Amino acid sequence: MEITDKILEKNLHERFKKYGKNAREWIEKCKLLLPEIARREIWQKRGFSSIYEYAAKLAGMSKNTVDDALRILKRAENKPELMRVIKEKGIGAIRPVAAIATTETSAFWAEKASEMSIHALETYVKEFKKADLQAKITSDFRHVTEYSQNQNLFPEIKTETIQMEINPKTADELRKLKGSGNWDELMQKFIELYKEKLEAEKPAAVQTDSRYVPAAIERYVLAKTNNTCAFPGCAKPYEILHHTKRYALTHAHDPDSLVPLCLAHERLAHLGLIENEEKQPAEWCVRVAPDKSDKKYKIDQLVARHRLAA
Ligand SMILES: [Zn+2]
Repeated sequence: MEITDKILEKNLHERFKKYGKNAREWIEKCKLLLPEIARREIWQKRGFSSIYEYAAKLAGMSKNTVDDALRILKRAENKPELMRVIKEKGIGAIRPVAAIATTETSAFWAEKASEMSIHALETYVKEFKKADLQAKITSDFRHVTEYSQNQNLFPEIKTETIQMEINPKTADELRKLKGSGNWDELMQKFIELYKEKLEAEKPAAVQTDSRYVPAAIERYVLAKTNNTCAFPGCAKPYEILHHTKRYALTHAHDPDSLVPLCLAHERLAHLGLIENEEKQPAEWCVRVAPDKSDKKYKIDQLVARHRLAA
């Protein structure tokens, strides 16, 4: 490509990006005016048939955008902390917490919304609700703080029914193996055997200045979850091999402290929001705040800054 073409294309792209950013900022400003425009029925006084027509004709906003903005802003009214995040990062930034935040907890959720990406925040809210639900607690923030520190994710559930598609021959073999026992016992036996097998093949930890995880260790770690995220209850494919003790602190790739995680759960780990992170993932749950005295906290802050800059 000609050098002049390159410059022209770069220029086109830069302008498009700049105009797009400005357009989004102005639409955000429009959204913030909507509740008052709705309350005073200004659209009607100006001859429009509805607030949707008003917003579509004057700002090119869709009905969904209007509904979404009105809904979230309604939730955020009387919650100054959330309103502050909206002004900083836009309405979308608090969408995942709009329904869960109460006047007592809005400061807590505002802090989370301001420091997390949307995706990590959505995942955190989901885990938080799970922990919350299992503990059968009210939305009282004090209680949430105490309980979510201690509860694992499945304390209340006694049994669960899983449907499996397997061929009839395998099914028959399984029934024979189960015999007069129950499925839970049989599955426990399989799990123990599989763990023993993995353990027998476990490679040694490697001390190194290279961030590259040796193939044998990667294979061992991925076999534990068959390539899915290790967070309890998550079935997403893994995206990152996460060092629960932080590589920057240990300079080691230890098969016992490497876990495959999806992006959202890896982000939660680096926000210091996983309780028992250095124990087996089965013992993990989310917590309400990072442990700022932990050496990992400093490393995680660096990682976060690095990612923002990237
Ligand atoms: Zn996950």
